[in-house]
Amino acid sequence: MNELNLYSGFLVFCVGVAVGSFVNVITHRLPMMVLAEPEDFGSWTFDLSHPASHCPHCQTPLRAWHNLPILSYLWLRGRCAFCAHPIGWHYPVTEFVTGMLWLACAWRWGMGTHAMCWAWFATSLLALSVIDWRTTLLPDALTQTLLWSGLIASALHWVELPLEQSVFGGVAGYVSLWSVAYVFERVMHKEGMGAGDFKLLAALGAWLGPLALVPLVLLASTAGAMVGLALRQKGKLHGEGYLPFGPFLAAAGCLIAFLGTDLVMRGIGW
Ligand SMILES: [Zn+2]
Repeated sequence: MNELNLYSGFLVFCVGVAVGSFVNVITHRLPMMVLAEPEDFGSWTFDLSHPASHCPHCQTPLRAWHNLPILSYLWLRGRCAFCAHPIGWHYPVTEFVTGMLWLACAWRWGMGTHAMCWAWFATSLLALSVIDWRTTLLPDALTQTLLWSGLIASALHWVELPLEQSVFGGVAGYVSLWSVAYVFERVMHKEGMGAGDFKLLAALGAWLGPLALVPLVLLASTAGAMVGLALRQKGKLHGEGYLPFGPFLAAAGCLIAFLGTDLVMRGIGW
């Protein structure tokens, strides 16, 4: 394990920012691909790499220097170079946050396989959070990949969690939320959680183990309830007052990965 210094830290941040720019592509295009109807596929010319980046307003393809993460946004002062239409501020923010997550992983686990695994974990959770917040979807392409990669990372000893804990964590994550949702539906006669939430918690269980799930769900529900109340007061809740749970599960998962289950449990007074 190599120590992090100023030079390697900056390098890791830059790699993270570049990955963040791909996170922008995924969060923008994956929901469209998931929601596409089967009849769209005949004329479907849209995937993660095609068409090349273009302005969503005037459709003009971007030049290479319009595509530099964060820098282009600052250089262009947040506007399209061709039609001057404002570019969403969430693009540079996502890139910056991904860079910071990568830096945090390298700082926490040192430069090596461990940090790479956790950077992958945090980046996937960021992409899932953005997609869930904007579309209330948690695409299988991301939740399932995160689940399998957690099992593999554990089997190969790329993370500290033993394989059996990873397997039990995955199963416990899915079954626990599924049962809560099943009871809720029976009692309240409406859907409380989507199946994407079960799969996301299964993935978190595979990375963090079954013991982390109780504080994780507790933390996520408390934070979700607080944000939900605040948004309700401002009248800013989605549609019929539905608040996506994914971002809260993801944030709690990241916090537990970084701080460890014990510290987080003590922090919430257990
Ligand atoms: Zn434009």
